[in-house]
Amino acid sequence: CHSTASDGTFAPAEVVRLAAEAGLVALALTDHDTVAGVAEAAEAAHRAGVAFLPGIEISAEFLHPGTLHLLGYGIDPQSPVLQRMTETLLAGRDQRNPRIVTRLRELGVPITMTEVEERAGGEVVGRPHIASILVEKGFVSSIKKAFEKYLAPGGLAYFDKERLAPREALEMITQSGGIPVLAHAIQLRTENDAQLQRIVKDLVDLGLRGIEVYHSDHDDIWINRCIAIAQRFDLLQTGGSDFHGSNKRDINLGLAHGRHVPRACYDALVAARPAPVQRA
Ligand code: AMP
Ligand code: ZN
Repeated sequence: CHSTASDGTFAPAEVVRLAAEAGLVALALTDHDTVAGVAEAAEAAHRAGVAFLPGIEISAEFLHPGTLHLLGYGIDPQSPVLQRMTETLLAGRDQRNPRIVTRLRELGVPITMTEVEERAGGEVVGRPHIASILVEKGFVSSIKKAFEKYLAPGGLAYFDKERLAPREALEMITQSGGIPVLAHAIQLRTENDAQLQRIVKDLVDLGLRGIEVYHSDHDDIWINRCIAIAQRFDLLQTGGSDFHGSNKRDINLGLAHGRHVPRACYDALVAARPAPVQRA
C-alpha cells in the first residue's frame, strides 16, 4: 500500500484505519522511494491490532518496454544503507520533476513546482501528483488520460528519472534487512513466458527472494504464472492491492483483483525475515 508519504492520497495512519475497517489482519506500507510513512503507520497498526510490515518500492532500470518495480519487505527504517538509497532516489526525482513542469508550461499548461510539491505533501514528488493537478485544472479528464497525453513514455512531457540498477536495488534492500520481491510482474510487459523466466532468473541470481503473485492487475492467468515461477525458482509468494487511494480509483484496499491475499503469504514473509540488527 501507498500513503501520502509517496503517491497515495491517505496519510499512513488513515491507510491503517481503512485496513482495520476492511478486516485485514496484516498490512505492509511500501511507499515509493521512502520510509517516511512507516513510523506513523507502525504506531497506528499497533493501536489497531493490525500486524504491520515496513516496506519500500523501488523502480529499477529495465531495458524493455515495461517497468521493473522491486519491493523491499521488512526493511529496517533506521538502516544507514536505506537512508543513502532513499537520498539517491529522491535526488533523481528532484532532477526530473522540474523538467516535466517546464515542458508542460512550454506546452501552455500553467503549473508550478510549488503547486506540485504542495499536492505531494511529502518528500516523494511524482508524476501522479502532477497528473492530479492536470485533472483538477481541467486539462485532462482523468489521471489515466494525464499519463497518456503528457506523462507516460511517448507523452508530450515525459522525462525519465535516474534509476538504480536492479543489482544495486536488490543489494540495498537486502543490506537494509529487507526481503527483495518482484512487484506486479505483469507490468514488465514481457512478450512470452520464456522471456519472463529469463528476467526472473537473472534477478534471482542477483538476490531476488520473492515474487508478487496476487496484485490488482493480476488475473488468474498471471496468478498461476507467478505461482509456477515461484515454485521453479524457490521464491516466496506475496501479494497486495497496491492501494493508492483516489490516485488509483479502481483499486480497493485489501483486494487484489477481487481476491484477498492469503494469510500464508504474510506469515512466510515474516518467517523469512532476518533477525533485526541491534544498534547501541
Ligand atoms: P514516478 O514514480 O513519479 O515516475 O511515477 C510512477 C507512478 O505513476 C507509478 O508507480 C504508478 O503508480 C503511476 N503510473 C505510471 N503510469 C501510469 C499510468 N499510465 N496511469 C496511471 N498511473 C500511472
Ligand atoms: Zn509498482
